Amino acid sequence: MMTDLQLTLLLWVGSILFVLGTLLAVLRSFTDSKISSDQKRLENVLPNMNCGQCGYPSCSAYAQALINEEVPCNLCHPGGPEISKNIATVLGRQVPASVDFDSSLFMPRKVAYIHGSECNGCDKCKRHCQVDAIEGGIKAVHYIDNQYCIGCGDCVESCPQKCIEMIRLPQTIEHYDWQIKAKHLSAGVK
Ligand code: SF4
Ligand code: SF4
Ligand code: SF4
Repeated sequence: MMTDLQLTLLLWVGSILFVLGTLLAVLRSFTDSKISSDQKRLENVLPNMNCGQCGYPSCSAYAQALINEEVPCNLCHPGGPEISKNIATVLGRQVPASVDFDSSLFMPRKVAYIHGSECNGCDKCKRHCQVDAIEGGIKAVHYIDNQYCIGCGDCVESCPQKCIEMIRLPQTIEHYDWQIKAKHLSAGVK
């Protein structure tokens, strides 16, 4: 048979456990809603192309890993530095150093670039370009239309002013070739 003192103690312990349990449940639901709001924000930032090049099967899986496993912010190759920066902002982390995309299989293409201030409009480059990617009239500054340039480099040597250089387009979603993975896979490159 329990004494009054034992009963009171039991009631106290029960009440304390109940309060602690409620507190933990509130904290848990707060943390869960914070995680799901971070997840949503990350999913809005990621390209949502689910290509798997970050090492995760989908953008949403990468978002989850970013929240739960502290994985680096710069694994999304098609997204490039711009998206790495946005991920870091959502997570309140330092913006990561850019990835060396040149050593990557998935790199943006190279195109010619004319340093306009040195161009005298001689038009020689335009005559060398087989795909009509160079615009500009005689004695006017010439420029390259990136959309058409195939990166052959033929125009570089043709310029007497030496003002054409080959540059790599910045890594952005617009410049990413979404078919490249399929091309490499069909060529047997892993
Ligand atoms: S690499 Fe980028 S686009 Fe591809 S699945 Fe990963 S997060 Fe998504
Ligand atoms: S690199 Fe080739 S395609 Fe591009 S502008 Fe020069 S000549 Fe034309
Ligand atoms: S060859 Fe050189 S200098 Fe002549 S138009 Fe082209 S870019 Fe300008």
